Amino acid sequence: MGDPVAVAPDTTPGNGGTAPGDAPPRRRLGDEPADPRRHDRALIAAYEAALAVASELDLEAVLQRIVDLARSVVPARYAALGVADARGALVQFVTAGLDAAERAAIGPLPKGHGLLGELIRDGEPLLISDIAADPRSVGFPPNHPPMRSLLGVPIRLRERVLGNLYLCERNDGAPFTSDDLTVVQTLALHAAAAIDRAHLYRQVEQGRARAEEQRDHLRVILDSLPSGVLIQTGEDEAVELANAAAVALLLGPDAPAGALPRDGRDYGLRQADGAPLAPEARPGRRALGGETVRNQQVVLERAGGERVPVLAQAAPLHDATGSVGGAVVVIQDVTRLREAEQLKDDFLSLISHEFRTPLTAIHGGAHLLARQGGDLDDATRDELLTDIVAESGRLDRMLTNLLELTAILAGRLVAATEPVLLEPLAREVAAEVAARAPGHRFVVAPAPGLPPAEGDPALLAQVLRNLYENAVKYAPDGGEVRTAATTDGQTVTLRVTDQGIGIAPEHVGAVFERFRRVGGDPTVRGMGLGLYLSRHLVEAQGGAIAAASPGIGRGATFAVTLPVARGWDPDGAKE
Ligand code: ADP
Repeated sequence: MGDPVAVAPDTTPGNGGTAPGDAPPRRRLGDEPADPRRHDRALIAAYEAALAVASELDLEAVLQRIVDLARSVVPARYAALGVADARGALVQFVTAGLDAAERAAIGPLPKGHGLLGELIRDGEPLLISDIAADPRSVGFPPNHPPMRSLLGVPIRLRERVLGNLYLCERNDGAPFTSDDLTVVQTLALHAAAAIDRAHLYRQVEQGRARAEEQRDHLRVILDSLPSGVLIQTGEDEAVELANAAAVALLLGPDAPAGALPRDGRDYGLRQADGAPLAPEARPGRRALGGETVRNQQVVLERAGGERVPVLAQAAPLHDATGSVGGAVVVIQDVTRLREAEQLKDDFLSLISHEFRTPLTAIHGGAHLLARQGGDLDDATRDELLTDIVAESGRLDRMLTNLLELTAILAGRLVAATEPVLLEPLAREVAAEVAARAPGHRFVVAPAPGLPPAEGDPALLAQVLRNLYENAVKYAPDGGEVRTAATTDGQTVTLRVTDQGIGIAPEHVGAVFERFRRVGGDPTVRGMGLGLYLSRHLVEAQGGAIAAASPGIGRGATFAVTLPVARGWDPDGAKE
């Protein structure tokens, strides 16, 4: 036997105390005379074991009690109980008949091979009168005192072997008997119940820890969702759980963390048009009635009166019996979405209107020419053709701006910068716009020795075109459109100044916003996109744009600043 089992002679009083030398004559199994006192002791031991299993929760203590009981009812020098894991390896080991020093000398857990391993592997009891003579024995480890007799039983529960319980060296030196075996088997049954209960308890504990961990994870996940998630139960749709987004949505952004919003007290629901919402139409109530709710538009009204448009989804939560135990409601603040839709609608009606005006002019002119072209005098025909060319050019520029804007918003616009000489570029664009603006005088007057800027010539030309066109549009009485250009050594700045209607100081900061048409003459046509686009085009080149005006009626100046061309050497230029 390879397990380090106890062999020290038992000197504890009351344990038989028969010296190994004076063994009584050996009896064969089954021959033992009935001993009524032993029978009672066995019954009492079984009762005590059952009591220990029922009243003691600590497995080690129960097993120790069972080992002690085994050794007291079957007088043996030594008793031990091993608990095996699912693979048969011993994981717990309790002994009786050994003091602490002896126990320490034996060392760690027995390996569970040899005869004792046999108990766990085969699940059959062993009654051996001479261990050394048994062919299954693998011998004793060093320091292991010799021993002869062994009574071992597996601890079984249904088909599974949970461990073993064994006694060594009957105190009277006689072999263990079948009566002994019956008693130890009964005790092993109680040990099985204790081990099984401990397993179950551990499983329940692990299950609970896992459930707690999953609940924590779920909480983190829920709180990081941008949508509000609620769990509602009962007749009154009480909120049982609300994630951070739901709390912020229902109670407002300053709500304390962990607050549970209450319907009717903290918030109410209305129909999308603001009319009262019937209780049975509420998403939570519908889901509690078993319905799955998709995309229900409602308006949330907080206790303070603020209203938030909300899109709600809801679904019933079924319990184990299949009945609806609650409802999960997901709510999403759609304020931004509504604003975006509104913006899109406004934008579409604006561009339809802006496109219609030149189209009408083109269509009308072309129609007239087609029908009565022959009857018209040369001057009228020229005028009509000039209008058609001008208006179609205008349409083309509007479309170019729109396409450019789409590219910017989609992140597709990449500026290809290179050294750009600003004066020729400004002259070229000014000439182009001046041709359509006979009442305006274009002057391009850069400071001498202006270094080239680092920019994208095509994008820059478009910015200048927008600025020049505005200078013409917003100076209906004509006048000068002056382009100045200066440098501070690091940057180059182009300033386009007109003598038009000017911009009120409170509006100067808003002219670069999308669709912003500030205080201008409503009869002047425009989409409010030219400057918004220009700002993006300039920024894409690494530059900046700013507006300034001394006031209404006093003209306006738009300044575009770009870096001086990379690698530009001012000293080299002077030479
Ligand atoms: P649009 O000209 O199509 O309205 P812009 O984005 O080009 O759009 O300009 C935005 C607004 O800035 C204009 O509606 C106008 O009120 C103001 N603005 C632009 N340029 C000038 C200017 N040169 N003088 C006065 N106001 C201007």
